[in-house]
Amino acid sequence: MQQDLLLTFDREHLWHPYSSTLNPLPTYAVERAEGVEITLADGRVLIDGMSSWWAALHGYNHPVLNAAVQAQLAKMSHIMFGGLTHESAVELGQLLLDVLPKALNKIFYADSGSVAVEVAMKMALQYFQAQGKRHKSHFATIRSGYHGDTWHAMSVCDPVTGMHSIFGQRLPVQYFLPQPRSRFDDDFDLNDLAPLQSLLSRHGDEIAALILEPVVQGAGGMYFYSPHFLTHAKALCAEHNVLLIFDEIATGFGRTGKLFALEHANVVPDIICLGKALTGGYMTLSATITSERVASTICSGEAQCFMHGPTFMANPLACAVAAASIKLLLSSDWQGKVRSIEAQLKRELAPVANWPCVREVRVLGAIGVIEMKSAVDMVSLQKRFVEKGIWVRPFGKLVYLMPPFIISAAQLSQLTTGLLQALREEYQR
Ligand SMILES: *Cc1c(COP(=O)(O)O)cnc(C)c1O
Repeated sequence: MQQDLLLTFDREHLWHPYSSTLNPLPTYAVERAEGVEITLADGRVLIDGMSSWWAALHGYNHPVLNAAVQAQLAKMSHIMFGGLTHESAVELGQLLLDVLPKALNKIFYADSGSVAVEVAMKMALQYFQAQGKRHKSHFATIRSGYHGDTWHAMSVCDPVTGMHSIFGQRLPVQYFLPQPRSRFDDDFDLNDLAPLQSLLSRHGDEIAALILEPVVQGAGGMYFYSPHFLTHAKALCAEHNVLLIFDEIATGFGRTGKLFALEHANVVPDIICLGKALTGGYMTLSATITSERVASTICSGEAQCFMHGPTFMANPLACAVAAASIKLLLSSDWQGKVRSIEAQLKRELAPVANWPCVREVRVLGAIGVIEMKSAVDMVSLQKRFVEKGIWVRPFGKLVYLMPPFIISAAQLSQLTTGLLQALREEYQR
């Protein structure tokens, strides 16, 4: 198809994430992607700095992952999970149990990250309902979080930067706590706990669960907080009979330097949500995993089962590629790779920290964030990035990199150099 026709149809008929049909942002047509290179339809090649939103750990078009999809495709691309099961679902389950804390051993597969969060929240409600505690029906979280775009996931997203202003009246009321002030490397300030302590002692009997993105808050602000907060939060939740849900949809599978961010604190939640990088970025799949205790309580309640069952549950293609992706990750020196990406990002982004337009530069694992003092002009900056041969998608005040782990040192330098050049040109206008 001719590129201009493609882009015209796209602009006129296809909705993009958070976009307007009246005034659509420009889009770039992609022809193919391989390794960390995205080839546009006009022939330009971009180094990928986004991993397609945390997902494509191993880069694109990976021969091992392609082979896993093809092998599964030759058997069946899908089969219903009601009453039937298959090897890919089981193999993926075994791999997940191997890498997760022992106590988490009941796995629910769902379609996307947002649905995994809905599932976790439903589990928490059914858990208390089964014990006759229907009043425990609210959720608590910290500000600046992001947990997805579906209804209840949206209700625990940051009330200011999230969608509460639009849907506020219709969203269930949840409890929002301040973001912990203690940063990832800081000594923990016990004052960070006071709001949680006071909330749980006043409203603990109305709260089913505390939901957190452990250590790294993603789309809500790209903020890295102290793992000690999680240790204390776990103890407080246990004391007040509140479940702890970790949303590791963004942080899972090595991004923060640990396989799961919970390992920074050695805290085991009652429920964990995985998604995004679960399939190595090949297709959508998520998993919500809980403990024997939570699962058996749910299933001995009134409903006698957990009330959820998506049509494409445990899709074989998705499970097969997820299993292959986890094996590929574990057989690689991903930790060494993430460490060297971290060191290089720290080194190469450091010069920006004292630019007048920049508030802060922060790096953790394979995540590099430049927080600007004010929101960037997305269209203009995006165009400059593409001209420099890099794919970086800023939002609001945040310009950030989270490249595939397979990126070479030279490619990463191209990425940071292009980023700095584009920012310099943009802010010296
Ligand atoms: C992306 C994300 C989600 C939502 O996942 P989708 O697959 O987009 O529905 C939920 N929680 C976190 C932490 C995320 O980063």
